[in-house]
Amino acid sequence: MTDEFDVVVVGGGNAGFSAAHSAVEQGARVLLLEKAPEAAAGGNSFYTAGAFRFAIDSIDEVADLLEPDERHADAVVPAYPASAFEADMERVTGGRCDPVLTEVLVSRSADAVRWLATKGIRWRLMYERQSYLSDGKWVFSGGLFVGTVGGGKGLIAQHTRAALEAGVEIRYGAEVTALHLAERGVTYRDSDGAEHRVTAGAVVLSAGGFESDPRRRAEHLGEGWDRALVRGTPTNTGEVLELALAAGAAPHGDWGSCHSVAWDADGSPTGGNRELTNQLTRQSYPIGIVVNVDGDRFVDEGADFRNYTYAKYGREILRQPQGRAFQLFDAKTRPLLRKEEYDSRPIAGAQADSLAELAARLGIDAAGLQRTVDEFNGSIVDRPFDPAVKDGRAARVDPPKSNWAQALDTAPYYGYAVGCGITFTFGGLHVDESARVLDTGGRPIEGFYAAGEMVGGLFSGNYPGGSGLTSGAVFGRLAGAGAGRSARRG
Ligand SMILES: Cc1cc2nc3c(=O)[nH]c(=O)nc-3n(C[C@H](O)[C@H](O)[C@H](O)COP(=O)(O)OP(=O)(O)OC[C@H]3O[C@@H](n4cnc5c(N)ncnc54)[C@H](O)[C@@H]3O)c2cc1C
Repeated sequence: MTDEFDVVVVGGGNAGFSAAHSAVEQGARVLLLEKAPEAAAGGNSFYTAGAFRFAIDSIDEVADLLEPDERHADAVVPAYPASAFEADMERVTGGRCDPVLTEVLVSRSADAVRWLATKGIRWRLMYERQSYLSDGKWVFSGGLFVGTVGGGKGLIAQHTRAALEAGVEIRYGAEVTALHLAERGVTYRDSDGAEHRVTAGAVVLSAGGFESDPRRRAEHLGEGWDRALVRGTPTNTGEVLELALAAGAAPHGDWGSCHSVAWDADGSPTGGNRELTNQLTRQSYPIGIVVNVDGDRFVDEGADFRNYTYAKYGREILRQPQGRAFQLFDAKTRPLLRKEEYDSRPIAGAQADSLAELAARLGIDAAGLQRTVDEFNGSIVDRPFDPAVKDGRAARVDPPKSNWAQALDTAPYYGYAVGCGITFTFGGLHVDESARVLDTGGRPIEGFYAAGEMVGGLFSGNYPGGSGLTSGAVFGRLAGAGAGRSARRG
C-alpha cells in the first residue's frame, strides 16, 4: 500500500521538527517518520542541554523571549555579532567551514530562534552553564547564552506538541530503508517488520549522522573510534546518509572528524542515558588539570573558553593509554564546577585527602602524577584568577595551560574519570543555500532536502558549542519551506 503526503520528513530531532513546522506554514500535509519508538524518540536533540548559538548585537534583541529570572538584573551578556560568529566558525574549523553554508547559518541564526518561539519553544538565559559570578555579576562568555526551557527534553516535548497541534502525522518505529528519487518518496519498515511506501511532493532528510554505528565510525573516523562512548541516540547509524549517497547525492565536508567530548568513563558504548542525558558530560576542565593513567597532562585545558575546546578534546582522550583521562580539582576549585554534571549520580570519580591516595583510587601512576603536579604548581604566573574572562593566569609547562591555572595543593582533592564520548559526525551531504540536496555534478536533486547533522561542510575538527541545534533549526526551516513549496508546485 502506498501513502501519499505533500512532504515526508525522515527523522524526528530538532532539524526534522523544524522542517515539519516550516512545511506546514506552506500549507503542506506532512508525515514525519521516526525510526525510534515513541519512548526513545527525539534523536540526539533530546539529550542536549538545549543550548543555541546565535548572532546578536545586544541581548535586548531577544529579551522579550526569555523566561523571567531574578538574576537578569545582574547579568552581563556581551554582544555576539554575526562577524564574531563567522570568525569563530572560521577559527575553530581551521578555515574549513563552507563559506556559503556558514553565511546561511550565521545570518539566519537569531531569526530561527525567534521563529521557534512562535512554535512554542521557550527560552532562558543559561546562568548555570555559561556564566560565572564575578563581583556580584553573572558574567557570560563564549558566544553562547540562551537555551531552551527544560533542555533537550523540553525542546523535543515542545516541538512534538507544536507539530501535532499543526496536524503533522508522526509515525514512530518507522525506519526508512529506501529513497525513491523519481517519485519523491521513501520506503520505511515498521516495528513489526512490515514495509510501507510513501510518495510525496518532497522529502526532507534529517536522520542524523553515523555516530552510533561503530563500524561506520571506524571506517570514516579511523582506528579506535569503534571504542568511543555514545552520548546520544543509538539510532543515528548513518544508513540514510548512505542511501542518499547511493542515489547520487554528493558527500560534503569532513567525513574524517567528529564532535567528541570528555564523558563519564562509565558511560555506555551504545547510547546515552535518557534520564541523565547531558549530565554525563564533564566540561569544567578549564578550571583544573587533565592527566592520563601515567599522570601526564596532554592538552592545554585553558587554551580558550570551554565552548571552543570541548568538542575536540574527546579525540585527545581517545588517543591516551586505555582511552581514559582524569580531570583533577582541589578544595579551591571544586565549588566552581558545573553542579548538574559533577554532582550527578552515579559518577566515575573519587575524593581523597592526598594526591597519592587519589591516584590509587583512580588508577593513576602516583609518582607520575606527583611529578606533573609539582611542575605545574611551580610554573604558574602571578596574575589574578578569574574564570569569567581569559585571565592570562598561565602555567608555563609543556603542554602549557594558558588561562585559569590554579595550583593543585589544597585537600580534599577530587578526580573524575572520563572517556571519549562521541556526539555527532561532521561529514554529510552537500546542500545549497536553500537546503536542497546537490548531486555530484552540483545540481539540486529535485524534491530532496537535508538538514541538521546530515548537512556536511559546516564543521571540521572542532565546533563552536551550541551550533548544532541552530544549524538544525536554520536548515530545517529552509528545507521545510522549500519542500512545502516544491510539493505545492508538484
Ligand atoms: C549529550 C548531547 C548534548 C548536546 N548538547 C547540545 C547543545 O546543547 N546544543 C547544540 O547545539 N547541540 C548539542 N548537541 C548536538 C545536537 O544534538 C545535534 O547537533 C542536533 O540535535 C542534531 O539534530 P538533528 O535533528 O540533525 O539530529 P537528531 O536530533 O539526532 O535526530 C535525528 C533523528 O533521525 C532518526 N533516524 C535515524 N535514522 C533513521 C531512519 N533510517 N529512518 C527514520 N528516522 C531515522 C533518529 O532516530 C533521530 O531521532 C548535543 C548532543 C548530545 C548527544
